[in-house]
Amino acid sequence: MDKYQQSQKNKLFNPSRHDPTLNPRSGGTALCPKCSVLYQAGSWAWQTPQTSLPADVRSVVCPACQRIEDKSPAGTLTLSGAFMKAHHDEIINLVHNTETLEKAEHAMERLLEITAQDDVVQVTTTGIHLANRIGHALDSAYKGQTKYHYDDEQTHVSIHWQRD
Ligand SMILES: [Zn+2]
Repeated sequence: MDKYQQSQKNKLFNPSRHDPTLNPRSGGTALCPKCSVLYQAGSWAWQTPQTSLPADVRSVVCPACQRIEDKSPAGTLTLSGAFMKAHHDEIINLVHNTETLEKAEHAMERLLEITAQDDVVQVTTTGIHLANRIGHALDSAYKGQTKYHYDDEQTHVSIHWQRD
């Protein structure tokens, strides 16, 4: 991938920026062919029963589906410790429930992958807000130690949660 492609890709992945192929001021509307989320008035949101699609709706893969396809997370949580091992299913349920709540309001905030290796669970997300919300949910439900680390551009958050 060359520099130009990389910068186009970054633009697309950054949910705070608009997709350069769409112009909300001209009434651009797009539908994600993978998850049916709708781009309208400058942001992506779930369709409601009242949604009526204009005839010129375009098909554009949304940034969340793009991240899932590319396995390019915005948030990474690493969960570890003896408590994690003993309450694995309960903790994974909390992660899923937190996603359900966040995703209903913010369509671009989704789980990307949950993987486990040697009693350490890694959860990746398509948005930094969901990762944060899971970190806070773990902290308020189970205490333990939570550390947050943002990269320099604040586009990725790494969260380590541990309880022994
Ligand atoms: Zn999508």
